Amino acid sequence: MASNDTQHWKEKYLALAEEQEQRDKSWQARLDLLRRGLVRTSMAAEGSDPVVDQVMGELRSQLRQPDSDQSMDALIPRLEKIVLQSEDQREERLKQLGKGLRQLSEQLQELPLPKPMVKSLKQLAKQAEQRARHLKELPLLVDELSRLQNQVVNQIQSAEEERPGFWKRLLKNKQSADDSADTDPPVAAPTDAATLDTTNNTPPPVTSQPAATPVIAQQPVKAGQGHPNYAIAEAPEPGYSAIAEHIEGTLNSLLAALEVPDSHHTQRDALKQRVDGGLNWYELAAVLDELKALILATLNQGEHEFQRYLGALNERLASFQDNLKDAHTGYQESLASAHELDGELRTQVDGLQTSVKQATDLDSLKRTVESRLDGLLSTMDTYQHARDQREKQVAQKLQTLVEKVGNMEDEAKNFRAHLEEQKQKALKDALTGLPNRAAWDERIALESARWQRYGGDLLLAVIDVDFFKRINDSYGHLAGDKVLRIIAQEIAKRLRKTDFVARYGGEEFVVLLPATELEAGFQVLDTLRSGIEACPFHFKGEPLTITVSVGISAFSGKDSASQVFERADQALYAAKNGGRNQVQRGLVEQQKA
Ligand code: GH3
Ligand code: MG
Ligand code: MG
Repeated sequence: MASNDTQHWKEKYLALAEEQEQRDKSWQARLDLLRRGLVRTSMAAEGSDPVVDQVMGELRSQLRQPDSDQSMDALIPRLEKIVLQSEDQREERLKQLGKGLRQLSEQLQELPLPKPMVKSLKQLAKQAEQRARHLKELPLLVDELSRLQNQVVNQIQSAEEERPGFWKRLLKNKQSADDSADTDPPVAAPTDAATLDTTNNTPPPVTSQPAATPVIAQQPVKAGQGHPNYAIAEAPEPGYSAIAEHIEGTLNSLLAALEVPDSHHTQRDALKQRVDGGLNWYELAAVLDELKALILATLNQGEHEFQRYLGALNERLASFQDNLKDAHTGYQESLASAHELDGELRTQVDGLQTSVKQATDLDSLKRTVESRLDGLLSTMDTYQHARDQREKQVAQKLQTLVEKVGNMEDEAKNFRAHLEEQKQKALKDALTGLPNRAAWDERIALESARWQRYGGDLLLAVIDVDFFKRINDSYGHLAGDKVLRIIAQEIAKRLRKTDFVARYGGEEFVVLLPATELEAGFQVLDTLRSGIEACPFHFKGEPLTITVSVGISAFSGKDSASQVFERADQALYAAKNGGRNQVQRGLVEQQKA
C-alpha cells in the first residue's frame, strides 16, 4: 500500500510539474497574441492623421518591449490629448468656414436680383456662422448656398434671354475689368482658355463638312458674344464684375481655411488656379460645387468618423491595458503559488524522511508514511483546485480580451474600407462621373513610372470640345453640362479596360492608352472623334453637331509625363488651328523646347 501511494504521489507530482510548464507556455503565447493583435490594430488605424500615426508608431514599438504595461500608462493619456487637440483645430476651421460662407452669401446679395432671392441669401448669411459650427449642418449649408447660387445663375441666364447681350455686357470677367481699369491690379494667371484659343478676335469657322453644319453656326455669332471672356463693358454698370473680385477673394480664403487632406491637394490647387484665373458668372456654380466636394471630403464623414474611431480606440486601449494587467497578475500569482506548493511539498517530504528515520517499528512506520502521504496528496489537491479556479477566471478574462482585439481589428478594417470609399468618391468628377484631375495625377504618375521601368508603348491624348463656349452661350450652361456628360460617356464606352480617361478640367479630357502603338492609338481616337461627331444631339428639337479636337503623343526616349503631355497639347493646338474636328500626332521632333 505504501509503495502504491508513493508511486501515486510521484506520478501526480511529475504530472503537475509538467502541466505547470505547459500552462506557463500557453500564458506567454496568449499574452503575445494579444500584443500582436494590438500592434495590428494600431497599424490599421494609420494613415489618417500624422500626429496620431506617430503615437500609434510609439505604441507599437512599446508593445514589442517585453514589459510594456508601464509605458502604455503614459501613452494613453497622450493619445487622448491628441484627440482633443485635433477637435479644437477642427472647431477653429469650422469657424473660418462659417465666416467664408456668410461672406459669399453677402456678396451674392449685391447682384441685382429679385427680392425673394435676396431675402433667401440674407437669411443664409445670417445663419451661416452659427450653423457651420455643427459639422452635420455644414454640407446642408453649402448645399443651400449652391442651390441659391444656381438660382442666381439661372436668373442671370433668363434675364439674358429676355434682353440678349445685356448681361453679357454687364458680366465682363476679371481680365477685361483689368484691361479697362486704370489702377494696376495683380496680373491674372493665363487660363487654359486663353492659351488654347487662337481665334479670339474673329469668329472661327465652325466645321469643315457642310453636311454637318450645326445649328450653332446658323445663328450669327455677334462679335464678343461667343467669348464672354473678352466682352467689353461699354459703361461701368454694377453687375457680377463689380463683385467678382470679392467673391474670388472669399473663395480663396475659404480654400485657405480648408485643411485639405493630401489626397485632395491637386484638386484644391486646380480649383485655386481656376479662381485666380477669373471666373465667369456661369462658372461660379460649378466652382461652388467643387468647393462643396472639397469641404465634404475634408470635414464630413472622414474626419468625423475618424474622431469617433479614435475615441473608441482610446477607450479600448485603456481597457485592454487593464485586462493585460489582470492577466499578468493572474499569471504572477499562479507562478507564486506553484513556487509555494513546491516549498510545501519539500517540507513535507523532509518531514517524511525524518519520520522514517525516527520510526522504531514497521507498523508505526507504515502509519506515519500513510498519514504523511495523505497530507501530501491533499496539499496537491487543494493547490490544483485553487489553480484551476484562478485559471478559469483569468481564461475568461483573456477570452473577452481576445474578442475585444478581434472587434478592434474589425473596426479598424471597416474604417479603412470607409476611408478607401471616401477616397474613391473624391477621385470622381461630380458632373461626368469620370475620374477627375486628382485621379489623373495619380494614374499618370503610376503609368509613366511603369513605362520608365518596363518600357513598351504608352500613349497620351488630350481631347477638347470644339467651340464649347458657344454651346454654353447659345443654349445655357445646363445644356453645356449635359453635353459634357454625354461626351464623357461616349469616350468612356469606346475605351478598353486597361485604358484610362479623366476629365482634366472644363471641356477637356485626357486619355492614357497603355500597350498601344501610335498608329493604332490614332485610329482609336479618330473613331472616337467621328463617333462624337455622329452623336445625334438635339436642343429644343433642333439637331446639332458637336465635335472634338484631339492631340495624341507617345512616350519615348527619356520622356517625363509632362513632356509627353506638352507634345499632346501642342498637337491639340495644331488640330484646332487645322480646322478642328480632327486628331493630330505630337511627334518628338516637332516639340518646341
Ligand atoms: P475651342 O474650340 O477653341 O476649344 O473653343 P472653346 O469655346 O471650347 O474654348 P474654351 O476652352 O475657351 O472654352 C471652354 C469653355 O467651357 C469656357 C468655360 O466657361 C466652359 N466650361 C468650363 N467648364 C464648364 C462646365 O463644367 N460646364 C459648362 N457648361 N461649361 C464649362
Ligand atoms: Mg478648352
Ligand atoms: Mg474647347
